[in-house]
Amino acid sequence: MSPDPISKASPIVIVGAGVFGLSTAIHLAKRGYTNVKLLDKQPYHDSKYSYDKGYINKIIRAAYGSQVEYQELATDAIASWESWNEEIKSGKTLPPALLGSPPKTDCSSTTRDTIANMTKVGLRETQVVWNNPDDVDRATKQGFGFAVNPFNRKNNFGVLDTQGGFVYADRACCFALHQAKALGVNLILGGMKGTFSNFLGEANSHITGVRTADGVSHCAELMIMACGGWTPTLVPQLDNVCETTAGGVCIFQLPPDSTLWDRFAPENFPTWTYDMRNGESGGLYGFARDSHGAVKIGYRGTKFTNPQTQADGTARSIPITRWTQQSTRQLPLTAARVIKNFVQDFLPELIPCATKTRLCWYTDSFDNNFVLDFVPGVRGLMVATGGSGHGFKFLPTLGAHIVDRIEGNQNPYLHFWDWRSLRSGMKPYNNIMEGVDSERSLHRQGLTKHDSLKELRSSL
Ligand SMILES: Cc1cc2nc3c(=O)[nH]c(=O)nc-3n(C[C@H](O)[C@H](O)[C@H](O)COP(=O)(O)OP(=O)(O)OC[C@H]3O[C@@H](n4cnc5c(N)ncnc54)[C@H](O)[C@@H]3O)c2cc1C
Repeated sequence: MSPDPISKASPIVIVGAGVFGLSTAIHLAKRGYTNVKLLDKQPYHDSKYSYDKGYINKIIRAAYGSQVEYQELATDAIASWESWNEEIKSGKTLPPALLGSPPKTDCSSTTRDTIANMTKVGLRETQVVWNNPDDVDRATKQGFGFAVNPFNRKNNFGVLDTQGGFVYADRACCFALHQAKALGVNLILGGMKGTFSNFLGEANSHITGVRTADGVSHCAELMIMACGGWTPTLVPQLDNVCETTAGGVCIFQLPPDSTLWDRFAPENFPTWTYDMRNGESGGLYGFARDSHGAVKIGYRGTKFTNPQTQADGTARSIPITRWTQQSTRQLPLTAARVIKNFVQDFLPELIPCATKTRLCWYTDSFDNNFVLDFVPGVRGLMVATGGSGHGFKFLPTLGAHIVDRIEGNQNPYLHFWDWRSLRSGMKPYNNIMEGVDSERSLHRQGLTKHDSLKELRSSL
C-alpha cells in the first residue's frame, strides 16, 4: 500500500537492530527524521554483537556474476565501508577497523559472468584468474600471491577478487549502533522492553504501533519490521515471499604458536567461497582465522528449515539455535558431511582442530532479492527483510534505499525489492518454499550426534 505521507517529526518505530534495522535507522536520522525508535530483544549495547551471541564475520564482495545491479550496489557499499574505516582511523569514533584484509577467492560457475561485467565497468584488473600469468603476476606484486590458489589445487581454482574480503561483523554493527545513537535515534535494547509482542491497531488494515513484552505501547505512524529470520512469523503476509532457512557452521580452533596459526592468518589466507550453487559438494564459504584462532567454515548448499505451527494454524519455519528456547548446536548430517569431505580433501590439517558446530539462520526470499516495501493492504506497516545470505555487505548503504521507498523517491534499484509473491508455476531461485514436508526441514534430516565435527567423524 502506498505510504501515508509522514513528516520529519512523525514517530517511526523499527523493530530489529540487525543489519536492515540499523541501516534504516541511520539513514532516516541522516535525512532529518527526528522521532525514530529502534527496538531489539538483544542487549546489543552490552553484548556488542559478539560472535558468542550470534554474529559471525561476513564476506564483502563486489563480484556478483551476472547480477550487474548488485555489483554496482556492492561497489558503492565498499566505498562506504572504506569511508567508515577512515572515520574510525581518524580517531573520531569507537571501535577498531571494520574491514579485514582482502582478498577473496571464489571457485564457482559465476566467475565468468563476474569477469565479463567487471571488464565492462573498467574493473577487470581487480579480478585475478588463477591460471592467467598476467593476473597472477599483478596479484603477486600487490601482495595477494598467497590467495591465488589457497588450497594448493593442481587445477580448476578459482578467481580472486581483490576488492573482496571480510568485515568484522560485530565491530561493524557496534559502529552502526553508535552512529544511530549519535544521530539521535532512540535505542531500546534487550529484555522485555526491547522485545516485540504485538501490533497496535488493526493487524489486517492499519497498524498504529507496537506493544513490547513489558506491556509498553510504542505508537508510530510508520512501523518497520526488520527482524531477520523472525520476520516471516511476525508478519505472516510474507508467507509466499520469504522463508526462514538455516545453514551450518563449523569452528576449527587453532593452537596458538603453531604453524597453523600462521598458515591461516589473514595476511596468509584469504576469505573464500566454493561452488556456492552446488549443495552436494559445495555451497561452502570460509575465512582466515580470527584473532582468537578460530577458523570458520560455513555450508549454505542446502537451506534447512524448522517448520512450526503458529497460532493461526499455519506452519512457518523459525530459527532454532543454541540461544532459542528449544535449542540445538548440532548440524544436519548433510551439512556435516559436505564440510567434512571438503576439509578432508582441501584442508586436512584442520580436522584435528574441529571444535564446535552451529546453525545460522537466514531470511531467504524466493528470488534472492531483499524485500523493502510496504505490506499490501496494511497502512503504516513496512518490512525490511529478505537478506537471503548476502545482505550484510550493504549495512552502510541499504537504509538510503529504504528511505527512498518511504519518501517515494525515484531509485533505480527499488523495483528489485518491491513486494511480490511466488506465483504458481514459478520456481524459486534457491529451491525454497517446499512446504512442511520438504526434505530440507530439520525433522526430516538426520542430525549429528555431537556438536563437533571431530567427534562426529565416527557417526558419518
Ligand atoms: C551464517 C551467515 C553468514 C552470512 N554471510 C554473509 C556474508 O558473508 N556476506 C553478506 O553480505 N551477508 C551475509 N549474510 C547475510 C546477512 O547477515 C543478512 O542479510 C543480514 O544479517 C540480514 O539482516 P537483518 O537485519 O534482516 O537480520 P538480523 O541481522 O538477523 O537482525 C534481526 C534482528 O531482529 C531482532 N529481533 C528478532 N525478533 C525480535 C523481536 N520479537 N523483538 C525485537 N527484536 C527482534 C533480532 O534480535 C536481530 O537483532 C550471512 C548470514 C548468515 C546467517
